[in-house]
Amino acid sequence: MSEFPSITDPFGRVHDYLRISLTERCNLRCFYCMPEEGIPLRPKAQFMTRDEVLKIASVFVESGVKKIRLTGGEPLVRNDAAEIIRGLGQLPVELVITTNGVLADGFIDVFKESGIRSVNVSLDSLKPERLKQITRRDHVEKVLTNVDRLLDQGFRVKLNAVLIKGVNDDEITEFIEYTRDRAVFYRFIEFMPFDGNKWNWSKGVSYREIMERAAEKYGEKVERLEDAKNDTSRNYRVKGYKGGFAVISTVSNPFCDTCNRMRLTADGKMKNCLFSGTETDILGALRSGKEIRPLIYESVWHKKKSRGGMESMEELSDPLLHRKNRTMISIGG
Ligand code: SF4
Repeated sequence: MSEFPSITDPFGRVHDYLRISLTERCNLRCFYCMPEEGIPLRPKAQFMTRDEVLKIASVFVESGVKKIRLTGGEPLVRNDAAEIIRGLGQLPVELVITTNGVLADGFIDVFKESGIRSVNVSLDSLKPERLKQITRRDHVEKVLTNVDRLLDQGFRVKLNAVLIKGVNDDEITEFIEYTRDRAVFYRFIEFMPFDGNKWNWSKGVSYREIMERAAEKYGEKVERLEDAKNDTSRNYRVKGYKGGFAVISTVSNPFCDTCNRMRLTADGKMKNCLFSGTETDILGALRSGKEIRPLIYESVWHKKKSRGGMESMEELSDPLLHRKNRTMISIGG
């Protein structure tokens, strides 16, 4: 039992899940995440060191955090990624990671030693040429091989695809077919607005449209699965398939009511919501010798009910509002 109270917002939501971005750098250039011109590289000193990540994470864990997800950029491009993962593996917390999968084969032992059992891999297309266009890099074979390696080694694997009209929405049933013989979950994520990604909801594919496409092909063979507590996705399976699919509908059908998530960016700023336009400088406070715990509680106490206060589709579509947020690569998704 923790000696500190749980981290709670004014709506009674207990926050026990922290996503930590280890770096803003990435070995891919996905257009919906990284602006085409890239993001300006900043001096290393502005980012959390290994020890700072571990120190800050341990304060969150003492305050009731039960699950930590490592994100990026691409978390595995950091030179000291293995040491950080091993260090976090010592904390009494469920540790998981989201990666683009390119470097995953070199980390399988580190994941095992650190207690990571679940790996999310971003894979927006199964067509090599198309994936090359989306990510501006050529790597599909490597990722598919690594997904199979992870499965062979007993990891739970979820694949994430951001669906965009005219880009990859024609692959919905191919993604589902991929789950026929593999125990993976393919998760479809609605395209979300961030600074610099030229968002427009006419490019988005909604939860309803995804389910209509699935129903067209599989009819009553699509079965609804029970969602885990605080799950952001609605989960389904085609009867008889080893894996399943899920929809994360942040835009058309947000799941903020049960939100338990906080984010820490690679430069040590805390965000109380993916869409929050304000941040709390945890790293700055730590470096100047201040107590960081009260800042964590205060940040969550100021959390808005839904999507950083952009509750309606009109507000979400307003570039003046969503451009207050960072690019996706610097938040960590
Ligand atoms: S949009 Fe914000 S409040 Fe809603 S689920 Fe995501 S992080 Fe939580």
